[in-house]
Amino acid sequence: MSNGNRLLDKVALITGAGSGIGLETARLFASEGARVAIVDIDADAASAAKEEITAGGGQALALIADVSCDGDCARMVADTEATFGALHVMFNNAGISHIDDDGAEATEEAVWDLTMQVNLKGVFLGCKYGIPALRRAGGGSIINTASFVALLGAATPQLAYTASKGGVLAMSRELAVIHAQENIRVNALCPGPLQTELLMKYLDTEAKRQRRLVHIPMGRFGQASEIAQAALYLASDESSFVTGTSFTVDGGITAAYVTPED
Ligand code: NAD
Repeated sequence: MSNGNRLLDKVALITGAGSGIGLETARLFASEGARVAIVDIDADAASAAKEEITAGGGQALALIADVSCDGDCARMVADTEATFGALHVMFNNAGISHIDDDGAEATEEAVWDLTMQVNLKGVFLGCKYGIPALRRAGGGSIINTASFVALLGAATPQLAYTASKGGVLAMSRELAVIHAQENIRVNALCPGPLQTELLMKYLDTEAKRQRRLVHIPMGRFGQASEIAQAALYLASDESSFVTGTSFTVDGGITAAYVTPED
């Protein structure tokens, strides 16, 4: 499995690692020498990811946790430290995009609350328990998955999702400032639209997909593996002077006023 050593001797915890960005990142981190705690609410997905990585010669641990639950977050960090001896990289990546998330008038309170619980409180709890663990390790890197919608408004609304990601971005910046002198870096990763289940179930017609694609200068959706490469940089010591950023990986979407398609 190992084909690099950019994360040699590092322990990484990745939430939402059973699918999409988290799974691709777990694979990549393990191939770069990290020991990886694969955390997901979906037990089958977490153990399948763990089996795949260990079968390939990597070191992984599968943990079931709901990131919106304080006790689960405390436990996932404690179990990772107990198994691997330390924690250096905390990737708070788990998130949901609710199918009934809409504009201000149509979004039900329950949809708003659930989205905030997972996407925003989940990142807060990951930081709450991850930061002391990173401090015990002498420092480390926190990567919080936000989104390009934290930077730009969309006409196809997912208001709760967008607000939750704006919160992740603001929280990441503030934590970066607070912990900068402790050798703890905190960055928000802002992916553009990706060809993953999370987005494709929402953009479920060709017309909806085209409406989104027209805004992307590269003219295509991104791949989860392309976000994993950015996470690898932010996790590794190569990004040692990078903190408090909104690290955008979006095919140019936030740079564009008019795209080549217009
Ligand atoms: P995905 O649905 O493929 O994977 C998300 C994983 O998180 C799943 O395995 C799921 O079981 C897990 N999960 C959901 N709720 C959880 C909870 N409460 N506790 C623990 N695990 C939970 O999605 P993805 O596309 O890989 O998205 C990962 C992150 O990237 C999310 O935060 C998402 O908002 C963000 N993002 C995605 C896109 C995109 O286009 N797909 C764009 C920007 C940002």
